[in-house]
Amino acid sequence: MKYDVKFKCGHTETVKLFGKYKDRENKIKWYETNCSCSECSKKAYNDEMMKTHDVIEMHYGKYKNEYSDCKTVIDSYNSETKTIKVYVKKTEIVKEIEDTKNECIEILKTLMTEEDCKKQNKTYNDILNDYLKWEMYNRYMKTKKQEDMEKVKKLNELCIKYINL
Ligand SMILES: [Zn+2]
Repeated sequence: MKYDVKFKCGHTETVKLFGKYKDRENKIKWYETNCSCSECSKKAYNDEMMKTHDVIEMHYGKYKNEYSDCKTVIDSYNSETKTIKVYVKKTEIVKEIEDTKNECIEILKTLMTEEDCKKQNKTYNDILNDYLKWEMYNRYMKTKKQEDMEKVKKLNELCIKYINL
């Protein structure tokens, strides 16, 4: 069944609903009080993304090879030019990610020597990646080396920041 539903944002849009009469009625009420129409939802999503991202139009192949982790602008694929619009993190955020990572590695260097890394056949970068998976955190919690705990705490804070950037 098709219904003209007036959404929370005030716009009316036709939606298709199936199922029992009562369920359809409930769904319509839910739309009216909680949801924006598809255009407004799209705009809200874009506005939110633009706070932290730039939109770059690129060849689809380049997106697949280099930017496949990134979100794309809805309906932005152009079949004629084979291009797509991609949300790429703003440069200053990329810089903050780099800075945070470097700060983490500086702390790691005080917690373990290059020898320790080599024994595990790892670089500081690998160790940080392990740490992000909490492996190292658990290891240090076990050793309970009091003098290292402050550094570990700081490193944890930075890692949480790093993950969320
Ligand atoms: Zn709307």
